[in-house]
Formats: sequence, C-alpha cells, structure tokens
Amino acid sequence: MKKYTEMNKEELQALKKELDAQFAEVKAQGLALDMSRGKPSAAQLDLSMEMMDVLGSGDDLKCETGVDCRNYGVIDGIPEAKRLLGEMSEVDPDHIIIYGNSSLNVMFDSIARSMTHGVMGNTPWCKLDEVKFLCPVPGYDRHFKITEFFGIQMINVPMTPQGPDMDMVEELVSKDASIKGIWCVPKYSNPQGYTYSKKTVERFARLKPAAPDFRIYWDNAYSIHHLYDDNQDFLVEILAECAKAGNPDLVYKFTSTSKVSFPGSGIAAVAASKANLDDFRTYMQIQTIGHDKLNQLRHVKFFKDLDGLRAHMRKHAALLRPKFELVLDTLEKELGGLGIGQWTSPHGGYFISFDSLDGCAKAIVAKAKEAGVVLTGAGATYPYGKDPKDSNIRIAPSFPTLEDLEKAAQVFVLCVKLASVEKLLAM
Ligand code: PMP
Repeated sequence: MKKYTEMNKEELQALKKELDAQFAEVKAQGLALDMSRGKPSAAQLDLSMEMMDVLGSGDDLKCETGVDCRNYGVIDGIPEAKRLLGEMSEVDPDHIIIYGNSSLNVMFDSIARSMTHGVMGNTPWCKLDEVKFLCPVPGYDRHFKITEFFGIQMINVPMTPQGPDMDMVEELVSKDASIKGIWCVPKYSNPQGYTYSKKTVERFARLKPAAPDFRIYWDNAYSIHHLYDDNQDFLVEILAECAKAGNPDLVYKFTSTSKVSFPGSGIAAVAASKANLDDFRTYMQIQTIGHDKLNQLRHVKFFKDLDGLRAHMRKHAALLRPKFELVLDTLEKELGGLGIGQWTSPHGGYFISFDSLDGCAKAIVAKAKEAGVVLTGAGATYPYGKDPKDSNIRIAPSFPTLEDLEKAAQVFVLCVKLASVEKLLAM
C-alpha cells in the first residue's frame, strides 16, 4: 500500500471514509480492554503460587543465622535474601540492603531523604534555590511523578538505542551543580526496551558531576526479564564500573522481584557503595524496625538461587513472548510501509514504544478509549506529561489474554491509521 504521507487529498478522504466505517463497527462491539500498565497477567502470577506454600505453620521460621523471621530485627535483610538479590543484581551481598515490597517506594524515600537531610552530609536539597534531575525520554512515568512531586525541575535528555544522549548528560552534569540526579532504566528500558551499551555504562561511571551529591538512579527493574533464551541483551554492571573509575558513590542501583514473583508483594533491594548504604541506613533505622522477613524467606525458599530465578523467568517469557510477537506482527502487517509510525522490538522487559506522526498520540489514545481500549495516557512517558511532539505511546502487552490482545492490537492500528489520516487532511 502507498505511504499515507504520499497520498493526495482525494485518496486520503476515500481512506478516511473506509476507516470511519471500520471504526464504527469496532465501537459497536462494546470492547473493554486494558493495555495501559505493565502488569503481569493472571497466568504469570499463577507461576509463583507455590510460594504461598513454602512456609508452613509447623515450620521453623528462622533464617540461616538463627533469627526468628516472625519477629522484629535484621533491618538490612536476612543473609540468604541478600545473597539471592545480590546474585540477581550482580553485586556482593555486602553491598545490598533488602527493603519492603516496592523499589519505587525506596526511590521516593531516597529523594525525600535527599530533600530533607541531604546526601552524605551535603546541603539538603530543600535548602537550595534550584534542584534539577535529568530525565531520559521517553521514560517511566512514575519516576517523573516523584521528581515532579518534590518540585524538582526536570530536563529531558533524548534516548537512543544505546541509552541516553551521553554527550548531553556529560555536558550538563559537569557544568551545573544544581543537577542532582538522573533517572535510568538501563536494561529493557521502560518504555522502549533498550539496553544501555557498554560504552554508555562506562561513560556513566566516569561522569564528573559538578554536584558532589549527584547520584545516578539506576532502576534495574528488568534485569532478568528476557523474552528469548538465545537473544538476550547484556548490561555492564555499573557498581563495579563506578568503583573502577574511582567514583564508587556515584550510583544507587534499585531492583525488585515485582515482575518476578508478585507485584506489590515482592521484595525490593538497593545496591550501592558502603558509604551510600550507611547514608540510607541512618534514615531507615528511624523509619522501620525491619521489613517483611517472612516474605524474604518465602522468596529464598521458592527461588533458591540465580538458576531458580532464571528458570522461573523462562516460564514468564513463554507467556509474554507470544504477546509481544502478536503486537509486533500486527504493527508490521497493518502499519509497515505506511510511513505513519515507528516502534521498538525489545528482547525483554514489559513494553513496546510506538511513535506516531507528530501531533497524533493524544488523538490515537482518545480514539482507542472511544473504542473500548485503554492505553497508557499520551504524554505519560515525558516529564510533566508533556510530550513535545505528541507522538509517543507506550504499549503494554502483558496483561490481557492473547485473545483480548489480538482485538486490542487491531483497535490500536485502526486508531493510528484514522488519527494519521485526519492529521494529514488537516495539514
Ligand atoms: N521501575 C520500573 C522501571 C518499572 O517499570 C516498575 C513497574 N512498572 C517499577 C520500577 C515498580 O517497581 P516496584 O513494584 O518494585 O515498586
């Protein structure tokens, strides 16, 4: 088929008529489908159900150092959980703290602590005139919401398939001491599914920030979330790289088992230098008498070690892969060669990122909603919800059943076509 961008007005008008009729048909079906958030499907959650049975009422619920996990204590996390999450994060268990059920919560706390108490003895950010964060875009909406909530000014940095534009990152952080951090999802990024290259990680580790309290918020949420056994991305481990570069305190590395076991009922962890972890501990000791050690024990008994985690993630992949492939096949078949959209084809993670013609994303999302398909809000992948080109849409294929996803993907491509034709006609 001819590219939409090469059609004349009459051709576009004829096409619009056809698409309008298809849209009316779809609307009449009264669909109610949700592709908005990166939630695992019920079938994925079922994979971890045995975890409910690994701790029995008759069991000795002590961790390996003999502490009763039913009681307070062991604020850093039980040693076997530190080992498990250490393996998952590729760091020594001594460099990790186990938290509660959410890594996002720990990120929020880290920013809150930096605001009120400062980072490792530096001036609390709330006492400064200006505090800024770099935000690779498109990115994770909930990161941006945290920095927005604290009144931190956000600066967009374009993403590339190799990671954020590092020329820009280096230039900005070396010159401006009010830049205190950067949000990163370095592996199978949210939403593009990109993995930072070796060179990008090396450049991160060698940053020379003007601010001594600048930190890289390295949110490795999708570290073991591969879709394929034989086609996996590889990410250089940043903590070791920072230590090698003489910058041991530059990074906070976050992880969680939210998309491994149960979102909202997994375990989260932070890996960082000893100095950074001690800084975290001063706050944590006031905040809690200890996190949920029974859940830590449950995770260790269920997964055992990295091999156990990997085997489990292969089961997730078997459920996710057909969904990603269905969406990608539909995009290719229906939109390939039309010149009205581009999309990513990730090897892991939870998302596909779609870029429409400029000025169409909001219209596509609104049309999909009208047809009964909820997508992530247009603009959500940008700070302040403002996508300067109004073109990026995050597609989250994990949650719907394959059958529902097929319908949702058809609605999506139809809405892309319709919004593009309307845009071109209005030009
Ligand atoms: N970081 C990223 C990049 C995510 O995509 C998500 C979940 N969508 C989270 C963090 C949330 O993690 P948690 O459940 O551990 O708070």
